[in-house]
Amino acid sequence: VPASEPAYIAGLNPPQREAVLTTEGPVLVLAGAGTGKTAALTARLAHLIATRKAWPSQILAVTFTNKAAREMKERISAISGGAIEGMPWLGTFHATCAKMLRSHAELVGIQSNFTIIDVDDQIRLIKQLITASNLDEKRWPARQFAGLVDRWKNRGWTPADIDAAESEAFANGRGQELYAAYQERLRTLNACDFGDLLLHMLVIFRNHPDVLEQYRQRFLYILVDEYQDTNAAQYDWLKLLAEPRRNLCCVGDDDQSIYSWRGAEVANILRFEKDFPGATVIRLEQNYRSTPHILAAATGLIAHNSGRLGKTLWTEQAQGDKVRVIGVWDGPEEARRVGEDIERLQARGISLNETAILVRAQFQTREFEERFIAIGLNYQIVGGFRFYERAEIRDALAYLRLIQSPADDLAFERIVNTPKRGLGDKAVATIHRLARARGEPLLLAAAQMLDSDELTPQARRSLGRFVGDLARWRQMASELPHPELARIMLDESGYTAMLQAERSAEAAGRLENLAELTRAMEEYDNLSAFLEHVSLVMDNDSVSAGDKVTIMTIHAAKGLEFHHVWLAGWEEGVFPSQRSLDEGGLASLEEERRLAYVAITRARRNATILHAANRRIYGQWTSSIPSRFVAELPREHIEEETTMTGGESLWRAQWSERTDPFAHLGPAQSMRASTRGPGWQRASATGRYNNQPQRIVEAKASAVSLGNRGRDDLSL
Ligand code: ATP
Ligand code: MG
Repeated sequence: VPASEPAYIAGLNPPQREAVLTTEGPVLVLAGAGTGKTAALTARLAHLIATRKAWPSQILAVTFTNKAAREMKERISAISGGAIEGMPWLGTFHATCAKMLRSHAELVGIQSNFTIIDVDDQIRLIKQLITASNLDEKRWPARQFAGLVDRWKNRGWTPADIDAAESEAFANGRGQELYAAYQERLRTLNACDFGDLLLHMLVIFRNHPDVLEQYRQRFLYILVDEYQDTNAAQYDWLKLLAEPRRNLCCVGDDDQSIYSWRGAEVANILRFEKDFPGATVIRLEQNYRSTPHILAAATGLIAHNSGRLGKTLWTEQAQGDKVRVIGVWDGPEEARRVGEDIERLQARGISLNETAILVRAQFQTREFEERFIAIGLNYQIVGGFRFYERAEIRDALAYLRLIQSPADDLAFERIVNTPKRGLGDKAVATIHRLARARGEPLLLAAAQMLDSDELTPQARRSLGRFVGDLARWRQMASELPHPELARIMLDESGYTAMLQAERSAEAAGRLENLAELTRAMEEYDNLSAFLEHVSLVMDNDSVSAGDKVTIMTIHAAKGLEFHHVWLAGWEEGVFPSQRSLDEGGLASLEEERRLAYVAITRARRNATILHAANRRIYGQWTSSIPSRFVAELPREHIEEETTMTGGESLWRAQWSERTDPFAHLGPAQSMRASTRGPGWQRASATGRYNNQPQRIVEAKASAVSLGNRGRDDLSL
């Protein structure tokens, strides 16, 4: 190693160096988790700048999240000692496109000061269009159409690209027409939705060679992280931009492709070599992040997927601890257990910033949040809201508060027209006026307006129903257990139906959160005790600075690393999610497995997997069975433990030959091996589940379906 070698290169291994030093021509770095892909990409960026191959402003680096972009910026500043002039274009695809679009908006019929609308606005717009098209919004939910539009945009399709078959996907073939109307409406509003940012730039690149040429001239080098999760539109955009210079460097891992539900196409990895012939393909095999046990556990798990590119990973790190697999009795115990673990680490002087709890779905955060608040452990929810701050939870709480105290005007305002009952701003303003004039609560004023002619007959009818419903529910409150009341209110108010009609992954997540809310209510004697608890919890939401445990979905954790990681809820129906099981396809199960791989590989020193034997669903204890992914972990790298004492284990599981990690040992040994862990009692090494997954069946039969695709932040 020459003494003069710059610091950003000195620590890199030979293939990483190659990724940094092969500055000209297409480069594809294909490697497993923690092998230093992002590190190499960052060093490459530093190298391009340090060797004056390009000014910072002539480099475009694309990351998958804004957090990743920020981190890369910090790394660059650190590497260069803050001494670089200007900054590279560094951000997500969307942020980059938004920046570009400000300069060329007029080419797609909007002005440079266009607004970027959020999902709520998008839905409102689409609803108007659906109504204006004389379609029944109940039959053709706006959210469903929003999902479709998203899919089209992810593929880079404008309304003109929608053929008859695609158009069939909505309102009996009117999909294309509505899409065109929606785009037109956005244009008149001088607005873009999220997908437009990319689509508009793609259209501009296609139709305005001069603009494309300008960017081709500008960006001498293009770098892309998390390449496996690019979608078709992003790929086309990249390809247009990178030609003809072809100084494009993409890094990714096919095993970490976890966004196919948002249109990501892992096939882009395979296309790369074809579209950029002569590309240098670099494989990194040394993992610097995790201990051998963690790495082997993750590798053994992902080996169960078919159709992988396949890769070898090794590490020089000290052996360390095995991956712990802990079976607990129920959700509260899971949270208690993790809380204790973390407090123990804290007592040893370990920073909370090095700890993270990763969940499959948002609803899983609640039990941890409540436990941590109870024991005073500082935490943050990354990439989402705290449980009681989520919109659907606030709505449900507003219903409950209004039952508890009819004078709660804030609650009244929040739900008077949620779900939509035809009580628009005007009606609400009228109620306000009367309430103010009389010095009365809104609800009382509303009740008195039912006979007045200040409201339209339609508004009066809806208001009458609403006021009547509330009175009836209040009556029920004295007769029914409060969680039951909550369920009835959510159903009878049409709130549940509103979410169900959406048929989207996001709505499924919201329904799960509501189910979790009623579960939480069961822990309190009555409604007022519960509401008091909630206000105390909500009051606690000022996140103090300093050390915090991070709680986040696996989707949001991509690319990150923590010393100590807890992976919660590894049970069939939670992870793999119910949705993936319902879809039943191999593809969705394999995506879940990739998620599990991403989850385990976030850990540097310790990974702990937890599964609960019982979860409370609708006031009933139902037994769950451990995730098949637990059984797929190579036994020699895990250490099983159960906190359950006495009685027969509720979570016996029996796996098919194919997934039996001991199958190679032959039946006898396999049986012995498999009964090692106290929680793992198997009747035989072959066959399918002997236990009907009761919990899954029950969950499916209920109004609220389990299973959610994690959502992460799409903010700019
Ligand atoms: P992922 O697939 O999860 O995104 P990655 O391949 O991008 O992972 P990095 O995050 O770049 O991996 O690196 C993982 C860890 O290894 C980081 O802590 C990084 O600092 C460290 N690392 C990377 N390269 C080296 C190296 N050559 N020597 C020592 N440590 C390294
Ligand atoms: Mg990375």
